[in-house]
Amino acid sequence: MSFRLFDVPETEASHYVGFAGNRINRHSEKRSDDVVTFALANTNARMLLVSQGQLLVNMSSAGDALFNLNDAATLLPVPNKTIYLGMLDDMPILATPSSIELTALPERVKAIDYRSVYTQGLIPAEQLGAMAQAVSLLSWHDNHRFCGRCGSETVMRDGGYRRTCPNCDAQHFPRTDPVAIMMVVRGDKCLLARGPHFGPGMYSCLAGFIEPGETIENAVRRETLEETNLRVGRVLYHASQPWPFPYSLMIGCHAEALSDDYTLDRDELEDGRWFERAEVATMLDRTHPDGLMTPPRGAIAAHLIRSWLEGGA
Ligand SMILES: [Zn+2]
Repeated sequence: MSFRLFDVPETEASHYVGFAGNRINRHSEKRSDDVVTFALANTNARMLLVSQGQLLVNMSSAGDALFNLNDAATLLPVPNKTIYLGMLDDMPILATPSSIELTALPERVKAIDYRSVYTQGLIPAEQLGAMAQAVSLLSWHDNHRFCGRCGSETVMRDGGYRRTCPNCDAQHFPRTDPVAIMMVVRGDKCLLARGPHFGPGMYSCLAGFIEPGETIENAVRRETLEETNLRVGRVLYHASQPWPFPYSLMIGCHAEALSDDYTLDRDELEDGRWFERAEVATMLDRTHPDGLMTPPRGAIAAHLIRSWLEGGA
């Protein structure tokens, strides 16, 4: 049997997921402490602003979250919390919390929670990717103001990609939390489940945090066993998705169940069962007679499901 290493589609599956449209050139090798100052001196600069878990969006035409610096100034950016994301063509892209009272927003500017911006597609795909980068990084700063080693207040460096401790010199770098999301399949059926917080009729893939010292594949097997008591054999990586709630990376896999019998962990899952291909197809295209559905298009779970339906796994 012949095997070719790159005998896969030229366009990666990750290209199609929500938050994947980030075109910002991060220039990670050129970050310096004055990069924000330089960016603010560039009249092409654009700024994303957030407030209380919401993105500020100019809704006067198509949704636009990249404010020029004059418009951004009216929304009261917080100077010492401003971070540099990189260059989008000739535009330096910055992000910052806004200190404006939400009741004082200009009429055309709306504060919209991140999930709604994503699920309703309120801004262009490349801005959605920038939002994921900005929100993940700003959330990390919010949650890591103090040194984990000595407890002193830390200082932002490198345009927001590092924090240093003035007391003990510890360096702290932004974190990304890996989450395995797995579509468990067995022949022509797959196991989908729903958590208690899911919307009505929604069924999705299993998921769980990858733990320290664990491979992706072992995390898939462990989480599946814990949540369903199903043993999984082979695991195939499919795609990844930035998930800025607050700073995760979803790692999507197909997983091959080794038996039919399962027992749901009722602390984690409200319901779950095997679904045949034909039924899953109706859930994906929203024609299921009982209104059951799979997650929305941009979600990596939907891509895992579609790929399996199309015979890609
Ligand atoms: Zn310290």
